[in-house]
Amino acid sequence: MSAVPVSSANHHDFPHTPNPVFENSPTFRMACRQLDAVAEVIDVDKGVLQRMSVPKRALVVSIPVRMDDGRTEVFTGYRVQHSLTSGPSKGGLRYHPSVDLGEVAALAMWMSWKCGIMNLPFGGAKGGIGVDPAALSRGEIERLTRRFTEEVLNVIGPRMDVMAPDLGTDEQTMAWIMDTYSMKIGYACPEVVTGKPIELGGCVGRREATGRGVTYCILEAMKELNLRPSESTAVVQGFGNVGSVACQELARNGVKIVATGDRYGAIRNLKGIDVAALTRHVAEGKLLKDFPNAEEISPADLFTTPCTVLVPAALERVVHKDNATKLRCRILAEGANGPTTPEADELLADSGIFIVPDVLCNAGGVTVSYFEWVQDIQQFLWTEDEVNQRLKELMLRAFHQVRTLARERKLSMRTAGLSLGVQKIAKEKMRRGLYP
Ligand code: GLU
Repeated sequence: MSAVPVSSANHHDFPHTPNPVFENSPTFRMACRQLDAVAEVIDVDKGVLQRMSVPKRALVVSIPVRMDDGRTEVFTGYRVQHSLTSGPSKGGLRYHPSVDLGEVAALAMWMSWKCGIMNLPFGGAKGGIGVDPAALSRGEIERLTRRFTEEVLNVIGPRMDVMAPDLGTDEQTMAWIMDTYSMKIGYACPEVVTGKPIELGGCVGRREATGRGVTYCILEAMKELNLRPSESTAVVQGFGNVGSVACQELARNGVKIVATGDRYGAIRNLKGIDVAALTRHVAEGKLLKDFPNAEEISPADLFTTPCTVLVPAALERVVHKDNATKLRCRILAEGANGPTTPEADELLADSGIFIVPDVLCNAGGVTVSYFEWVQDIQQFLWTEDEVNQRLKELMLRAFHQVRTLARERKLSMRTAGLSLGVQKIAKEKMRRGLYP
């Protein structure tokens, strides 16, 4: 087969032109800055770069919901599909008060690069609703979810766009989306979402997949740095689906968890936090910060606590120019999407901290989502061992591809990772050509 040209006559000589619809968002500007940095080191056609710097499609919807007290409240929801080049678009749905169009668009772009690095047949997408789910009853969340699904029905589907859980959403949210979609089309369609409950066609090990993938990357980075897990410590910011599983998996591998925190507060115990006991404590509905056998610290102190591995596993832009030089870790493993700002990246460049970038580090989630989608389409289910073994295989392959490229081209791990993802999509766009 002939080589695919990634550039053509209009070779780029300057970064992309900003689009005002999205670029008033600091998170979207950050995603674009990263893309421009990649365009500096790979040979990418300027037209293709311009196409990749904006989402393919963005839908904003108003979602009226009848609240328990009889009032009607209107929420704003988003679904942004960054790329439809490689297959259906794929990505989570986030319920959080700070959700806005620019943030969702940035997260959708990162999903494209993430799927590209993992070589999954998906483009990137993300959705969200500006809401604090903790302030709503279960019935209100169900009505909100079903009405949102109805509002975006024309742009989702197993061959068009497949949602999954993200911050503030879970298996139950996916079950309601699956049910609403299935009721509309007249037959059960589990493959319209991933991260579903097992009994509805969910994949064993999906819930743990992101945290497991983060752990595989950390253990691999430790090998590189000649660090022993049993002599290492970790600080994990976030104790949700990603953070809690990362804590459990790291602890299982002998790493001592010395501090962790969630949106309500943070705790530290330099002798090691009993993760199993903390998991039970939180499962009982108690606040993480009230866990006995640990001192309460300010959430900002998580970032400056000395440790081997720091895992931001919550929101974006938490490592920034004001705290980047105060980090006291050897490895920064990005469980969250976009936790490190480009300014912080520059400050960290010569710090000796080994960064496992988000698009690689947290890609375990979407990888097992891909497994789930494949199983649902084939109606042939895998065992948990098969899932975990394939996840490990794909994560390690991606880790070493990124690491090798970083070494060979003397790039940061982030730029190397993004280059692989961006280049895959760019090649596909060039090969498909521009219609009409
Ligand atoms: N929300 C997750 C992410 O940011 C998973 C997306 C998916 O499984 O489609 O990667």
